[in-house]
Amino acid sequence: MRRSNLSLVLSHLRDAGPRSRARIASDTGLNKATVSSLVAELIERGLVGEGEVQRVGSVGRPGQTVELAPAGVVGVGVEVNADFVDVTALDLTHDTVLSRRTPADMRALGEAGSIALVVRCLDDALTALEATGCTVVGVTVAVPALVDSSRGRVALAPNLGWSGTALADQLDLALVAHGVHVAVDNDANLGAIAEHAVGVGRDVDDLVYLAGEVGVGCGVIVGGQLVRGASGFTGEIGHAPLNHRLEVCGCGRVGCWETQVGLEVLLTGCATGPDDPVLDSDADIDARLAEILRRAADGDQATLDTLERVGIALGLGASVLVNIVNPRALVLGGYFAVLAHHLRPYVVHTLLERVVAPDAGGAEVRTSELGFTAASRGGAVVALQGVFADPTRVPALAGA
Ligand SMILES: [Zn+2]
Repeated sequence: MRRSNLSLVLSHLRDAGPRSRARIASDTGLNKATVSSLVAELIERGLVGEGEVQRVGSVGRPGQTVELAPAGVVGVGVEVNADFVDVTALDLTHDTVLSRRTPADMRALGEAGSIALVVRCLDDALTALEATGCTVVGVTVAVPALVDSSRGRVALAPNLGWSGTALADQLDLALVAHGVHVAVDNDANLGAIAEHAVGVGRDVDDLVYLAGEVGVGCGVIVGGQLVRGASGFTGEIGHAPLNHRLEVCGCGRVGCWETQVGLEVLLTGCATGPDDPVLDSDADIDARLAEILRRAADGDQATLDTLERVGIALGLGASVLVNIVNPRALVLGGYFAVLAHHLRPYVVHTLLERVVAPDAGGAEVRTSELGFTAASRGGAVVALQGVFADPTRVPALAGA
């Protein structure tokens, strides 16, 4: 009972913002003495702090507000991408405490080498967070893969070359000194969760997040809930057979949508030859995409033609999703967001043309502002959800 009341107060402060104990009591229906006691315990656990003195109206005594404690308690998200490892730590207010990206060619590293790199990136980040006094409440790793999230297992990651990988178990073991639990989920699912929690989808409960990376997947939120499907494998739109030219996909099939809109297709289309720096996987992806934007701004015809081709194909696949899901927002993420100035007009046009419902069923095409950190942010949000559900998972501070 007390545990669920602690959760109620902490979650209310997240959703409704800083407020006085009296206001928490009236909002939640708990009595004032109970709220004072619950807040005292949340302060002891370092989850909540005293905020500003707030005077409500001209009579009565001013109330001290309470608010989620910044820094202190953090969740960590990691994105394992074909081109990089991104680590992001968020505090309870979802502010960024740490953000690091390490470029790497994960396919060249192989499965064991890639996992060793993830361990190194995580070990460094956790050590840095601990050194600043942060309490890490959990780690969630995003993988571009079919993921059995209940077991932390990667069933198949075509663009990493992994299959049947017990990733959570391996990371738990390698990071045992940090005493954190590692969870694993699909990258587009976590991207969708990030957009809904802290991104451009905060105001809607029905959204599709499209992750434009080497592979292309989507995360679907309906009625405020992530749709997982019977086996957890929802959202593999990248392997929908939309390319009639039957090019070979990373999954081994031909004609998959990602052979038209995956990051590599875009980069290869824009490159002037095999030595073009935009193909250099040791360089940071944002720098390579900035170069493509520069070429487009200069009117380079090969770049503009590639953007048009990818934009039209992106719109066709997006129209399939919008016809099925009828989202309020279709969020362009990953490289689609970075190049949205060029790609978005094609998507908007194609949706109006191909979605059978009038006005694309009310779907707005929005551009992610989280860039390539969406999946790792979503991982951090999920890691923090455990604390909102059960604040007693965070021990009382020494001396409190
Ligand atoms: Zn495929």
